[in-house]
Amino acid sequence: MLRPEEELSKLIFEKRSANTASWLPSPGKEAEEVLKKIPKDLLREKEPEIPSLSELDVVRHFTNLSRKNFCVDTHFYPLGSCTMKYNPKSLDAFASFPGFADVHPYADEEDVQGALQLLHEMEIFLSEITGMDAFTLQPAAGAHGEFCGLLMAAAYHHSKGEKRTKVLIPDSAHGTNPASAALCGYEVVQIKTNPRGHVDPADLKSKTDASVACFMMTNPNTLGLFEEDILEISRLVHEKGGLLYYDGANMNALLGVCRPGDMGFDIVHLNLHKTFAVPHGSGGPGSGPVGVKKRLAPFLPVPRIRKEGDRYRWEHSAPSSIGKLRSFYGNFGAVVRSYAYIRALGKEGLRAVSENAILNANYLKKRLEDIFDEPFDGFCMHEFVLSAARYKKQGVKALDIAKRLLDFGVYAPTIYFPLIVEEALMVEPTETESKETLDRFVEILRAISREIQENPEKVQGAPYTTPVGRIDEVRAARQPNLRYHSK
Ligand SMILES: *Cc1c(COP(=O)(O)O)cnc(C)c1O
Repeated sequence: MLRPEEELSKLIFEKRSANTASWLPSPGKEAEEVLKKIPKDLLREKEPEIPSLSELDVVRHFTNLSRKNFCVDTHFYPLGSCTMKYNPKSLDAFASFPGFADVHPYADEEDVQGALQLLHEMEIFLSEITGMDAFTLQPAAGAHGEFCGLLMAAAYHHSKGEKRTKVLIPDSAHGTNPASAALCGYEVVQIKTNPRGHVDPADLKSKTDASVACFMMTNPNTLGLFEEDILEISRLVHEKGGLLYYDGANMNALLGVCRPGDMGFDIVHLNLHKTFAVPHGSGGPGSGPVGVKKRLAPFLPVPRIRKEGDRYRWEHSAPSSIGKLRSFYGNFGAVVRSYAYIRALGKEGLRAVSENAILNANYLKKRLEDIFDEPFDGFCMHEFVLSAARYKKQGVKALDIAKRLLDFGVYAPTIYFPLIVEEALMVEPTETESKETLDRFVEILRAISREIQENPEKVQGAPYTTPVGRIDEVRAARQPNLRYHSK
């Protein structure tokens, strides 16, 4: 007999079904009839090597696997920069309405006017929320939005007969920013962060010239700090003919409070799956709409949605457009969820989201200041970065603390990002967590801090309660081998 946990950790290929109960629906006779019609020489000689399990065994297999995961529905998930807020189930219900879930992308415009109206109104909502003039809902995620935005920046400069070769990016930026710029053929130039945790205006000034296509920024930045010099930065970049790009992954701090468009940004991407309550993680469908100021609107991807009278239609040709970025019109289901979220909350509700996200982050930051170092002083926005460097004396790293948290039933904060903070732990509680949950998180971190003093090996060896302990993270990323070999 296998022990229960061994049985549970078997691959589906290694399982055999004892339960072939005939009262479950099965293809049976009909399948045999079909087989008779297939010419003999086309039939395979050997059974395929695929799992052969009853429906019940398959359901148990995958349900048990799913219960090994950490997710927002089961655990506190303060993963900085990712905005792992709770996503109300009603939004899934709206997205499941047959008029949304069952529409075909080739359906006649006349038959899907409601879906088109939703897309059109969503473009208007996002324009209003960010202070931009026009939006595309096509990009499938934030990084895809960056790619879209930079292609438009390139097309814009090209249309003016200018050849600009550089994109400026702060040293605290998310890795997708330089990756997107490189993908678009730009040279990436790093801008320093000053001791206050902000973009260093002097460094920016010295690197801004007529070869700069764009300055990509996150505001609040990845340290959770608002870039107070943004108007000055905007003037500097625009003076030299460059564009200002807004990485909107941190928009959860600004809803209804202030708008990137008013700060001088020309191009904005949003992560609907972060800020606007679409479940995310594990590469599931996201949505990264991109908004632009009027002068960049001609370059938006096609098709564009147009309203004529009270009818909606697709416009497929636009002479200056960068073209199509995604099959059909983007991840429609994600857009429906976010549309419902925005309409349910309204203006006041959205502002309350950001205010509470900021309040929760500052409360946590304050309560943790005696057991971690704070690389930057003062108030934070919706997230903050701590340093675990003081525990290096005991041989404990941020990674060890992150692993130990799993044993306490808490997902780990983001670690080692931004790169400029030693032993960084980046915490984003989000507005959906209660004070009780935040207090429990503080108590857990205090317990771990005590453990580091008394028994650092315990923390270094964590986790103890997860199905898999420490993996070789470098090999997992560089040589992923997920294939099952039967023999
Ligand atoms: C998440 C994130 C991105 C990338 O967005 P994806 O939707 O994951 O592609 C870019 N910048 C920042 C600051 C982020 O947090």
